[in-house]
Amino acid sequence: MYAFDYHKPANIDEAAKLLSESEEAAIVAGGMTLLPTMKQRLAAPEALIDLGAIPELVGVREDGNELVVGAMTTHMTVATDVAVNKRIPALAKLADGIGDPQVRNRGTIGGSIANNDPASDYPAALVGLGATVTTNKRSIAADDFFQGLFETALDDGEIVTGVRFPVPDIAGYQKFYNPASRYAIVGVFVSKTGNDVRVAATGAGPCVFRVPEMERALADTWDPTAVDTIHIAADELNTDLHASAEYRAHLTTVMAKRAVADAR
Ligand SMILES: Cc1cc2nc3c(=O)[nH]c(=O)nc-3n(C[C@H](O)[C@H](O)[C@H](O)COP(=O)(O)OP(=O)(O)OC[C@H]3O[C@@H](n4cnc5c(N)ncnc54)[C@H](O)[C@@H]3O)c2cc1C
Repeated sequence: MYAFDYHKPANIDEAAKLLSESEEAAIVAGGMTLLPTMKQRLAAPEALIDLGAIPELVGVREDGNELVVGAMTTHMTVATDVAVNKRIPALAKLADGIGDPQVRNRGTIGGSIANNDPASDYPAALVGLGATVTTNKRSIAADDFFQGLFETALDDGEIVTGVRFPVPDIAGYQKFYNPASRYAIVGVFVSKTGNDVRVAATGAGPCVFRVPEMERALADTWDPTAVDTIHIAADELNTDLHASAEYRAHLTTVMAKRAVADAR
């Protein structure tokens, strides 16, 4: 690891000011991704801006028909929070399936979505629920936020402050996970709110994506059998040592069926 300066601002404005003072500064949240890359010398920020002392970035609150989750809220908090378990149990279940207890106790929702690893779980929930990402500058619909492999709509120096999740009538999440890391080989999040159905797949391709054919079928008939015969093309899916593109395409149908069957 190279030497770096370390700052722990007490509020978002101070964090934004520190970030603007150096092109080579980086935000650190849980450090679960950033610190290993620094140890491997794949990243060498000259300053780390630690968001860990900004109270308004932590916690879950209910706001009418939305759950608002602060960017520095850990996966463990989302998994165990009473309001999340009551209003969007599929989101609590998703958070509970991330990594191991150490990762869940350090990793944060803001760090996860800013990083946008193609195998991470949260992008499926954000797109699958039609959530909104809030930053220190604006609000961004989840459909527009995740833009490609490790790419998001965030500008340089922009800080994720939280995520607003609309509460659905019913939602479910299932993933086929890598047995070593628990990252998603394929994970599918489904939700239904009135006649609006969303199906979002993570792990399968370079970035989370919606599956419109499944959304139409489930809007007609909310039942696992509705997606039974829908097979997505493997052309643009990922192939790596864990699974071929064809296998990921197959898993997308299987995980969608299970997510509908499991939806609460
Ligand atoms: C062993 C292991 C297993 C894992 N398994 C899974 C899994 O099964 N599923 C899964 O989804 N994830 C998994 N993860 C990822 C983990 O859950 C974290 O979410 C992820 O590492 C990033 O979150 P973090 O808070 O640690 O962010 P950090 O590592 O601190 O930061 C990651 C990146 O996001 C930026 N950033 C952080 N916070 C903000 C913010 N508020 N605004 C703007 N930019 C920001 C940082 O500058 C950095 O570039 C795993 C990680 C490990 C190490």
